[in-house]
Amino acid sequence: MDTANSATKPAVLILLGPPGAGKGTQARMLEEKFGLVQLSTGDLLRAAVAAGTDAGKAAKAVMEAGELVSDEIVIAILRDRLRDEDCARGVILDGFPRTTVQAEALDHLLEESGQKINAAISLEVEDAAMVTRISGRFTCGSCGEGYHDTFKPTTVSDVCDKCGGTDMIRRADDNAETVASRLEAYHAQTAPLIAYFDRHGVLKSVNAMGGIDAIAAELATIAEAARH
Ligand code: AMP
Repeated sequence: MDTANSATKPAVLILLGPPGAGKGTQARMLEEKFGLVQLSTGDLLRAAVAAGTDAGKAAKAVMEAGELVSDEIVIAILRDRLRDEDCARGVILDGFPRTTVQAEALDHLLEESGQKINAAISLEVEDAAMVTRISGRFTCGSCGEGYHDTFKPTTVSDVCDKCGGTDMIRRADDNAETVASRLEAYHAQTAPLIAYFDRHGVLKSVNAMGGIDAIAAELATIAEAARH
């Protein structure tokens, strides 16, 4: 964590964008570069489903349909996670908020811990490219590194470049039909947050149709500025 005599401070960054925009990939890169904690409500919900908690049981079918889990469940899960000590280092929110109710709840949660949103970064992409991006993606089950059949394949087939793991996972909701519902949910419920964060003076827009490293460099500049 940064010390008091350093010019940097813990930042709260939000990554906004439709499924497939690269939020998870970029959040992991920012996490490594700046020591911020990646908070993905999708990951927290998938863990709750796997653990069979009440929240997980309620969320399972909704996630499989590509719809949004209730604000109540998601806010409760995020609230619990934000209270963990590591989050004092600063966080990158990936996949939250997804509704105006969640955005307002986030302001209250951050207020409790004396934090505020430094930047809400909108990853701008074209819908048509998203289905291809999503349908080719997979993750290392051991370390969580993300890959893509075309855009970021493993060097050796089905062996993680990072940790050598061989247990590759493809998400159940990464199929063409569910992706269509997820994109619809994004446009109807989440895209209005772009104007919301603009009104709050924290919006940054990034063209996210390019290569992973070029986008990462742009995000690093924004993150760096947010920490000073
Ligand atoms: P993601 O991993 O961010 O693509 O999320 C996968 C699924 O989890 C989504 O399609 C939703 O069903 C659910 N989900 C994740 N984050 C949220 C959120 N902030 N609000 C509502 N549902 C969410």
